Amino acid sequence: MLALIKSPYTRRTLMCMSAAALLWSGSPAESTQAARYHTIPELSSGSPAPADSKETAAADRKQLFEQMGAATGIPWYRFAAIDQYERSIARKSKKTAAADSTSAAAKPRLTGIMIPAPVWSGPLNPDQDDKQPESIRFFGGFGLDGSGDGIADPESDADVLYSMARHLLKYGDSATDFNIGIWEYYHNGRAAQRVSQFAKLYEHFGRLDLSGSAFPLPIGTSYAYRSTWGTGRSWGGARIHEGTDLFAPHGLTVRSTCFGIVETKGWNRYGGWRIGIRDIENRYHYYAHLMGYEKSLLRGDIVTPGQTIGWVGSSGYGSPGTQGKFPPHLHYGIYRDRGITEWAFDPYPLLKQWENKEFRLLRQNKKKK
Ligand SMILES: [Zn+2]
Repeated sequence: MLALIKSPYTRRTLMCMSAAALLWSGSPAESTQAARYHTIPELSSGSPAPADSKETAAADRKQLFEQMGAATGIPWYRFAAIDQYERSIARKSKKTAAADSTSAAAKPRLTGIMIPAPVWSGPLNPDQDDKQPESIRFFGGFGLDGSGDGIADPESDADVLYSMARHLLKYGDSATDFNIGIWEYYHNGRAAQRVSQFAKLYEHFGRLDLSGSAFPLPIGTSYAYRSTWGTGRSWGGARIHEGTDLFAPHGLTVRSTCFGIVETKGWNRYGGWRIGIRDIENRYHYYAHLMGYEKSLLRGDIVTPGQTIGWVGSSGYGSPGTQGKFPPHLHYGIYRDRGITEWAFDPYPLLKQWENKEFRLLRQNKKKK
């Protein structure tokens, strides 16, 4: 299908130390001016495509990544990570999303990677819609012909992935080389960190579907929570409450709610001992006021839904180690990365959904026995 006979080339470039440092600079959600975000994207995005068509699209997409991987030497999970990052930050209005799905554009795309016109055609190219590989090359553009049809089309998945592969191969093929290539493409430490996290998740699990959930506390134990979104809090000035407090006994197990990767771990004066986990949808799950962490868990580690990550405590609201300034509870928050800012949204409806799902499963299992 893909006429890719061109041999990939590799060229080692000197490692840019400042770029490498920025790659890992991190961006804990609580350090950003996270704005309030009232809707739950999952529940408000209109009528989703039927599950089977979604699965088919995912299977086709993975196949495309594997084909491009075979042709270029870039592993499928790296293409998948870039694609997923771009999907997660795409701020599609409901109108354009609806138009896309109804008009079924001339060439429906499998990937969501959008390469801006000045990058694709070359910044000084007078024709910003240029699709001729020769003139694009002349103006230093990014666009190449990966499908073998003689044109370099930014709307063609094969052309986009092939161009991206040729860019990445300039830096080499190790994970570090990949991170540098991504940094050089986005010039954004946060983007580089996300793509590398997603690549690690896809590589580890070997599949695109990393949906799955768990309630953060063991189902059926003594905990209590209600919707506390946006209520005032007593310590730290006029801040709104960005999350849900789950009151529970000191020492109760805290579990990961998702498939994800540990992004933050340590003390924060508000959150106490806290842990932050990034999922494949680019959501940051924040667990605060812990008594302690699961010892073996380190930054960069991969977690699965239901996995123990720590224990309920009352740490925070002071210098490291401060405990007991309030009743023990888990503060759970979710932030969505939109590329430049991270938005907190109310986790309460999701918590209810996950809790109900686990109760349903428990009942089903009991019936079977
Ligand atoms: Zn709280």
